[in-house]
Parts: sequence; C-alpha cells; structure tokens
Amino acid sequence: HSQETYEWSTEVRKALTQIFKLQEFRSNQLDAINTTLSGNDVFVLMPTGGGKSLCYQLPAVIAKGVTKGVTIVVSPLLSLMKDQVSHLLQKGIAAVCFNGSMEPQTRSWAFSELAKNPPPTKLVYVTPELLSKSGQFQNTVRSLHNRKFLARFVIDEAHCVSQWGHDFRPDYKLLGNLKQTYANIPFMALTATANDKVKEDVLHNLNMRGCKVIKQSFNRANLKYEIVPKNPRNMAQSIHEFVTNGYRNASGIIYCTARKQCEDLALKLRKEFNLRAKHYHAALDPVDRDRVQQEWQDGSVQIIVATIAFGMGIDKADVRFVIHCSLPSSLEGYYQETGRAGRDGSVAMCRLYYSYRDKMTIEYFIDNGDGDWQQKERQRHNLRMMIQFCENLTDCRRQQVLGYFGEKFDATMCNKTCDNCMANATLSFEYRDVTETTKTILALVRELQVNKVTLIQVVDIFRGTATKFLQSRGISDLVPGIGAGKALSKTDCERIFKHLILKEVLAERCETNAQGFVMAYLQVSTNRKALCMENLAHLTC
Ligand code: ADP
Repeated sequence: HSQETYEWSTEVRKALTQIFKLQEFRSNQLDAINTTLSGNDVFVLMPTGGGKSLCYQLPAVIAKGVTKGVTIVVSPLLSLMKDQVSHLLQKGIAAVCFNGSMEPQTRSWAFSELAKNPPPTKLVYVTPELLSKSGQFQNTVRSLHNRKFLARFVIDEAHCVSQWGHDFRPDYKLLGNLKQTYANIPFMALTATANDKVKEDVLHNLNMRGCKVIKQSFNRANLKYEIVPKNPRNMAQSIHEFVTNGYRNASGIIYCTARKQCEDLALKLRKEFNLRAKHYHAALDPVDRDRVQQEWQDGSVQIIVATIAFGMGIDKADVRFVIHCSLPSSLEGYYQETGRAGRDGSVAMCRLYYSYRDKMTIEYFIDNGDGDWQQKERQRHNLRMMIQFCENLTDCRRQQVLGYFGEKFDATMCNKTCDNCMANATLSFEYRDVTETTKTILALVRELQVNKVTLIQVVDIFRGTATKFLQSRGISDLVPGIGAGKALSKTDCERIFKHLILKEVLAERCETNAQGFVMAYLQVSTNRKALCMENLAHLTC
C-alpha cells in the first residue's frame, strides 16, 4: 500500500522534506497518510515515540486527496495540544487549539477564521469536553461540513475511550456519535496502547469497526532494560553511580511510589551528590509543578524525581534514562513509563530497582483502594505478572513484555540489550524438576501455617537454619520437611517459594500483628485449581 503512487504522492514527499524538514517516513507513517487521504477510516497503533503526530499533521496540509479543508483533532491533554499548535505555527501551518480557558478575543478570531471560504486554518485541536458541550463549536463543525471544508476527524490517545485502558475518560465516550453524524468524513484514531482488548473496545466505541488497522511491533529497539536488586538504604548512592557512569549530563526521570520518597530522594541527590534533581508530584501547587517541568524540559534540571502523575503530556525527546525505584503495579504501566525514554530514537536505559517486599505495599493499596472485587482481582493479577517479570532471570525482557501484549518477539533480535540476554550470553542455566521439593514445601507449610510464619522464616526453616527460631516458637524440630532444603542455596530456595506464590500454590495472607505491623503470613493456597496444576514441576533455576 505505502509503495503505491497516488495523485498526492509528490505533494506528500515535498511536505515531508520542506515543511516538516524530515528525510524519510518511519514505518507505517506513509501507509496511514495514504489511507486517510484516500478517504478511508484508519486506526493507528504505534508505540510512544513512533511518530503518530505526523500521520495526521502532514495530510492536513495536503491540497490533493479525496477530502480537503480543516482537520479536527480531539486530544485529552491541553498542555500537549498547546505544544503541538506552537510547533505547527513555527512551521508556518495555521493551527488553533479550542479549550475552556481561551481568551474571548482569541476565540472569536478563531471562529471567524473558520467562517472564511475557504478557511485558512489547517488544524483545529479541541478537548473532548468542548466538542461535546459547546454549541458554537458544534455549529462551526456542521457549517464546515456543509461547505465541504471538513477534511477529517482525528482521535488522538484513542484508548481514553475504553474502560479497559489505563486512562479512561468519560467525555471520550461521546465521540462515538461523531461517526454517526459525519458518516462520510474519514476518521483516524491513534494510540500507543497495544492491548488487544482495548483495540476492540476502541473500534466499537468509536463506531469504526471494520476500518483499516495499522499496527507495528511495539518493541522499542533503542531502549535497554535492566532490573537490579534494590537496597533501600543506598538508593541515592546507587543512582549517583549510575549517573556518573555514562549519564553525567543526560536527562532522566526517576519514578517513586510515594510523594515523600520523591522529595527525600531529590533532596539527597542534590545535597549529597550534587546532582541537579527536583521532585514532582500531584500535591505541588500548579505553579511550582509547571515551573519544575519547564526547568526539566529546558535542561536546567537534569533529573526529575516523580510519582507516576508525571508523564502523560510530557513530550521531551531526549530522555536518556528512566529509573523505577519501586515496583510498578503492572507491566502496562512499566511499558508506558519506560516508554518515555528515547523518543528521539537514540539509545536510552530503563533500570528498575526490584525488591520482592514492594509487593506488599502495592497489595496494601489494592486491598484498601477503590474498586469492586473484580477490579481488585484484575489488579492483583497485573501485580503477579509484574513480579513474575522481575523474578524471571532467564527470558528476554522484550519477549516477556511484548508477549504480555500478545506480540511474538524473537529473542535473538534483542541483541543483548536487556540484562537477561546479556547474562545468558555468559552464564548457562539448567532446567531442574522441582516437583518433589515442592511437595515437601507444601507439607511443611501446611504444618507450620497455624504458627503464623513468614516467607523468610519458612525459607530458613526449610534450609535448616532456624533452630533458635523454632525453639522460641515452641515448634517441634521433628516436623517433616525441616532442613530438607539444605542442599539449596538461599537464593534458589527463595525463588522456588516465590514461584509457588506467583502460581498461587502458596499464598501470603496480610494481617496486623500485636505490635501494629502488617505481616504477610505464608500458607498453602486454598485455590484448588492451582494446587493440582501440572505447573508444580519444571521450574527454571
Ligand atoms: P508519538 O506521538 O508517537 O509518541 P511523536 O509524533 O511525538 O510521537 O514523534 C516523536 C518524535 O519523533 C518527534 O520528535 C518527531 O519529530 C520525531 N519524528 C516523527 N516522525 C519522524 C520521521 N519520519 N523522521 C524523523 N523523526 C521523526
């Protein structure tokens, strides 16, 4: 399709080099452009940094093609829209952003431009709220349509229309009516969310079923992935070493879970290690927040230490590293957050500091958070997948993440750009059948669970290194299974236990103890399906 020539092909090429000052199209961009210029609906799925904006900005300036006139772009984020409009104006493309906080003069000027025949405006950005609520705006769109000056509708961040997405916005729901009202106008929807369920849901909700879908691999070849063990006591030190070894003046994002952690870590990096770091979170007042973001954007602040509130709507191309100081709650989140690195296509590093203990914090948030039973189950499932990913020391990281999104990825293509592929090149792993070990562990936990013991305690008991502890609790040292894991290293032993927890064969039950601490007590799962799973065997060590 993209190789074919159309009446507009020469003009498209010229726009690429002369207006957008780019040399070549990236993968799928031309295909999307030709589809919309042919008058067809199209759904574009591209990872962050893939170059989605060009897919609708370029056709907007093409005079040839089935439809001409004004392109209406619906997008959820005001800051991003304003940013795009100012970039377009710099390129000499007439664009405007309609939003609730517009100056009255600007607003009436923008409307009068759109009333001209033909309107000089090429792109109109609008929030979904304004599109669904402003009668004047709706009348203008209708008038453009009647005068045959409505070129196309673009729905950016289209996953916002789906409840399955990570960022559902009720206002987006109303966009479904657009396609009915303007049936003969081509639609283009775009998203960086790879999930199949979301895709189907978006097509359904926007009434775009059966349209052309352009999807490419979500592999981000220029991102490197690594997971390192976390020691909460020397985080700042470790980050300082990371930065001095190769990222001295490079822009970066550090994600923490709690606001206080962001503040403390940024302060430490500044005071003790002389790094230009600042914190960012939702509790900052808007003026400070904008200032910090601006300082980071222009490079006067090197590192931003933020909660995940930071990200949506930032558009910095040269982010060289993203560090997670604690466990993300899903692989989806991990992919989105790491995806903010390296949008310019140059190499960037994604490092995650992993500690199994972080699981409890997230579980606590799930247990005490909003949502019904079903939503909580889904969150727990997402968390388990995330931990499994961190605990897995053998499979290619890319293969794991992309596999989660339903994409097959050939691990040899990773080229040692993730920690596991790098390690596999030097270490060798063997597969061990741990069925018998598992049976012994289950029998042991079944005996011990009335005594309220934690994972760490049971591991020690299993390895026979907890004699004193057993005495202090008055537990007989004749319980079968005590010391049965003598031959295993502590690490291997912990990996087997954690694997069994992730497979729901064992379970950790949270309970507040007499001292008021939340403890996670180990027990045999009550999930019968998990217990009779063939999966009890063949664990990779
Ligand atoms: P997305 O919205 O998919 O995350 P953007 O549209 O913001 O991506 O583009 C990401 C970056 O890639 C921008 O800096 C943009 O200028 C650049 N870019 C887009 N298309 C091309 C291209 N064909 N050649 C070179 N750079 C491009």
